[in-house]
Amino acid sequence: MKDNALISVRGLEKSFSKDIQVLKGIDIDIFKGDVVVVLGPSGSGKSTFLRCLNRLEEPTGGHIFFEGTDITDPKVNINVHRQKMGMVFQQFNLFPHKTVIDNLTMAPVKLLGKSKDEAKKDAMDLLNRVGLAEKANAYPNQLSGGQKQRIAIVRALAMNPDVLLFDEPTSALDPEMVGEVLDVMKELAKAGMTMVVVTHEIGFAKEVATDVVFIDDGVIKEKNNPQEFFNNPQDDRLKEFLSKVL
Ligand code: ADP
Ligand code: MG
Repeated sequence: MKDNALISVRGLEKSFSKDIQVLKGIDIDIFKGDVVVVLGPSGSGKSTFLRCLNRLEEPTGGHIFFEGTDITDPKVNINVHRQKMGMVFQQFNLFPHKTVIDNLTMAPVKLLGKSKDEAKKDAMDLLNRVGLAEKANAYPNQLSGGQKQRIAIVRALAMNPDVLLFDEPTSALDPEMVGEVLDVMKELAKAGMTMVVVTHEIGFAKEVATDVVFIDDGVIKEKNNPQEFFNNPQDDRLKEFLSKVL
């Protein structure tokens, strides 16, 4: 592992069966403040990679060092580390029968030991930050997709994570709502949040990524700054991929 990396991934493998090896040895170092955008064809293992990082999927090989701890070690209490890795999903995953404020305060009260009042105050600060304070008492089904996703981001932030993992956060949204979610993500990036983002939003990658990664056939085929990645791709499969999405 790299001493000063927030996350060091070494030889990460994931098989779902003898025949299906999805990740075939992923190596990457992610540093504090990095915004890593992950691109790749559908089915190439992007979600599997992200879900292995916080062990929502159990890796079948290799190591993940997070803040200096090998979190693939079966002896670690993964919950302790997972709390520090917020995750935002394509489908929001808010609790439908709880209000926005309850969605936001549950985990901080239960897992961080905050008082209900303190958790509420902190949640309201975050809601103000994304312009949704007036939705505190709404239920998720009373919100637009873009609002739901901004709440999901706030919910992740409420745990004060050291890294945020995004799995296609705008893919389920109507086009007119993509911008409001990307704007929140851009602000987080500017504020120095470490982020790993699986997305097809090339504009976002060009504007805020520190590194863009191309996953194909279970490995990282290319990793570069956005300028080089998009203007001077080396890998043939990446060239082909970019010719379709640019
Ligand atoms: P991506 O996010 O890049 O579209 P995924 O990581 O979701 O790709 O999936 C990569 C491959 O792993 C696909 O072939 C998918 O069918 C397979 N896969 C994902 N999850 C499972 C699972 N739980 N069981 C079996 N196969 C899976
Ligand atoms: Mg996916």
